[in-house]
Amino acid sequence: MSPVLLIAEHRQGFLNPDTLGLLNAGIELATILETEAHVVIIGKNLDALAQDINIDGIHKIHLISAPSEYTHDVYIPAISSLFNKLKPSLILSLHTSTGSDYSPAIASILDIPFLPDVIEINYTNQIEIIHEMYSSKIQAKIASQMPAVITIRPGAWPTTTSPGNATLENFDVDISEGLLNFKVKDYEKTPIGDVDISTSDLLLSVGRGIEEEANLELIFSTAEIIGAAVSSSRPIVDAGWLPKDRQVGQSGTKISPSIYLAVGISGSVQHIAGIKNSKVIISINKDPKAPIFDVSDYGVVGDLFEILPALIEEFR
Ligand SMILES: Cc1cc2nc3c(=O)[nH]c(=O)nc-3n(C[C@H](O)[C@H](O)[C@H](O)COP(=O)(O)OP(=O)(O)OC[C@H]3O[C@@H](n4cnc5c(N)ncnc54)[C@H](O)[C@@H]3O)c2cc1C
Repeated sequence: MSPVLLIAEHRQGFLNPDTLGLLNAGIELATILETEAHVVIIGKNLDALAQDINIDGIHKIHLISAPSEYTHDVYIPAISSLFNKLKPSLILSLHTSTGSDYSPAIASILDIPFLPDVIEINYTNQIEIIHEMYSSKIQAKIASQMPAVITIRPGAWPTTTSPGNATLENFDVDISEGLLNFKVKDYEKTPIGDVDISTSDLLLSVGRGIEEEANLELIFSTAEIIGAAVSSSRPIVDAGWLPKDRQVGQSGTKISPSIYLAVGISGSVQHIAGIKNSKVIISINKDPKAPIFDVSDYGVVGDLFEILPALIEEFR
């Protein structure tokens, strides 16, 4: 079988760490297909980045020199040309804003299937993927012919790696500046809040059950004493009580802490879409029928205004 081709993602000289999860997905798949895992990296100053992706299980790294940072105009001809030379059985990229920009275009140009936002890949005579739909309410199992383009959900595969011994090979594609319809002139960092909930290991999340803004003091006191970062459901952000970067869910941040403690949160599908990768979910809600209990490992039915002060007392 021809190799699996994986597309490394990077920006301003730094590898997107989720690329390592993508490589692990590709290595796993290449092993099942009894073929090789190849990576392609496109851009400027690729030497250090090539070292980052030279991990155990990768057979070959294709380096494509391009005059600029990521643009659609560079990636499309570069990947299509390499595809025509290599004839890979699958192309895997990350389901990020960048991956979602070029991957469907590649599939369309090559006239092969496109399978987006994949969380699991299996193979028995044909490729079978799992893709979540309707805010993770259902999972679709889709069988596809090969070759195909698959975008992998960041975080769906582990990112642990060990150093490898892949062959490095330059691949020349004629990408002159004149072909570029647009250029990235600059990057501007969006303001980062005081807390990054996507990397916090213990989150205390507050919902509309808190009733009013002044009561958030109870949440912050509890969070401080148990060593948690504070996040919230959307209504708390919509009310302007907490900044947007604290919002968990479909239109907020998708989190994966060791412990997620949901307080006064009902458990809407949009909220649950963001917390499903938490290792342990603990909920406090006065309504025993609140849907949050359906996804919780531990649940406390009761009034948060009684339970949190008792928790503070216990931890003191
Ligand atoms: C397109 C779209 C995107 C969305 N994206 C998101 C998103 O990213 N994140 C998100 O969270 N929501 C999102 N929503 C909103 C979502 O549908 C819900 O409205 C929201 O999650 C509800 O927030 P909540 O659980 O805090 O409030 P509620 O649903 O009002 O629940 C409050 C809970 O608190 C409990 N409670 C009340 N008083 C107490 C008390 N004293 N002690 C204990 N429990 C108590 C109640 O029993 C209830 O279960 C989105 C909606 C849409 C349409």
